[in-house]
Amino acid sequence: MQDGAENPMHFESYYVNPEDVDAGRGELIIRDEERHHLARVKRKRAGEVIQAVDGRGCSYESEILDMAGSETRCRIRSVRHGAGEPSVQLTVAQGVLKGDRFDWFVEKATEIGVSRIVPVLSERAVVDPGDRKRNRWRRIALSAMKQCGRSVWPEVTEPMTVQETLDSEARTPVRLIAHAGGSSVDCATALGPKPKTASGMTLLVGPEGGFTDEEVRSCLGCGFTPVRLGPRRLRAETAGVVFAALILSGLNELE
Ligand code: SAH
Repeated sequence: MQDGAENPMHFESYYVNPEDVDAGRGELIIRDEERHHLARVKRKRAGEVIQAVDGRGCSYESEILDMAGSETRCRIRSVRHGAGEPSVQLTVAQGVLKGDRFDWFVEKATEIGVSRIVPVLSERAVVDPGDRKRNRWRRIALSAMKQCGRSVWPEVTEPMTVQETLDSEARTPVRLIAHAGGSSVDCATALGPKPKTASGMTLLVGPEGGFTDEEVRSCLGCGFTPVRLGPRRLRAETAGVVFAALILSGLNELE
């Protein structure tokens, strides 16, 4: 089976910058690292068909025209919108984690179908990761998007404090916080029979040390529903991934 064939399980896609897509001419250009991968690692040749994704929801089945030079020109054979994407825009606001645990979280959240990741700075996770880490997270999200057959490159936002997160998510109708408390409900109850998912959903998850009681109170005061993720205490990054998976599954997006 050639790359670019229908089954997303069998192809790897290449990132194309949206600015390098010339819809009028029906051509696109693959550059830099992506071009290197195509030429040196995958040893593609003119005439072969590849799948190019623009990270904004468009996938282009494209035929390589020319491998000479530092860029690869392709002819667009067909365009698909929203390939590999869930119908709900899911944001996970996750407390910043130590070491490379947030890297793992970004990769897995992208594979599951999360659209936006907010690194949250809270009282027990105060270290601003800085631009280098944030850029690494963006690259990890890009690579996971290509690998898993998605067409949207999830956004990794600037880090936000808990208050900034509450402000930024205030207009999202469905807002849930992972919290192992007595008043918490399970995911299915939190979603209800007809979840209002049209304007997206936001899930909030604590850092390794959890949120402080005061932070939890502010979140509940701002309309977040507390949700439990089972009887065991999960590591923070596991909680983020499990939460996203349970919610997408509850919305029949993992079938
Ligand atoms: N040390 C903290 C636990 C932190 S776990 C404590 O004892 O409270 C990190 C985060 O994962 C928590 O803030 C919560 O958002 C989430 N989490 C972990 N296990 C969970 C569970 N069983 N139910 C709901 N949320 C959970």
